[in-house]
Amino acid sequence: EPGLYIVATPIGNLSDLSPRAGQVLAAADLIAVEDSRVTAKLLHHLGVKRPMLPYHDHNADRMRPELIARMATQAVALVSDAGTPLISDPGFKLVRDARAAGVPVTTLPGPCAAVAALTLAGLPTDRFLFLGFLPAKAAARAQAIAEVAAVRATLVLYESGPRLGDCLAALAAGLGEREAAVAREISKRFEECVTGTLDELAARYTEAPPKGEIVVIVAPPGDAPAPDADAIDAALAEALTRLP
Ligand code: SAM
Repeated sequence: EPGLYIVATPIGNLSDLSPRAGQVLAAADLIAVEDSRVTAKLLHHLGVKRPMLPYHDHNADRMRPELIARMATQAVALVSDAGTPLISDPGFKLVRDARAAGVPVTTLPGPCAAVAALTLAGLPTDRFLFLGFLPAKAAARAQAIAEVAAVRATLVLYESGPRLGDCLAALAAGLGEREAAVAREISKRFEECVTGTLDELAARYTEAPPKGEIVVIVAPPGDAPAPDADAIDAALAEALTRLP
């Protein structure tokens, strides 16, 4: 069927590609890709060859009209290098323009590092704010952090290994003492999720910058960890000793 198909792809483990995603890619007339070498590997894994067209930040404005035109008669799939297209990846304007042109748009949901990290962190998930990548420069980063300091939601952001220590220190400075988690290499061999306060994590990762791909999760303000049963018992016992 002609139209635009938004196809989520694995963030590390090829087995996470859904069967439906595989079927749509195998049947696509054209696949719009960020990096054809990355998607070629995925197609190789599926044992298929499909025409690919690059669609990335540097050529998107030029490519979009051509892609939209082709969707009138062809099945065009959009993938990014990993995870869900449009999430810190190109695609939103393509969907917007496809809709404006009356092209049918459908999505094949699947892996997304932000959501996967939320499921690992053990921090509140009822309200969260996705920040993508914070600015790299210190002043702009501090400003971006200040803007969300009062938001009563868990924060989710992407960061690179070399910048992680600085980023966590900036978060600690701008947000104060909060619980946080660093999820790394999700769905890959060295997956891990390290939890602690922002200060603890900043110290750890400044000392030893990690390798691999990273999501940072920060608890909402005022969300000190709930006391455990022993702590509550101890507090009660202490209070009882002071009863008249
Ligand atoms: N669209 C993608 C998604 O749905 O997650 C995100 C694309 S963004 C350009 C890439 C960033 O996502 C990485 O720098 C890292 O912060 C995060 N990421 C991607 N894969 C990851 C993984 N397996 N584990 C942890 N973080 C990951």
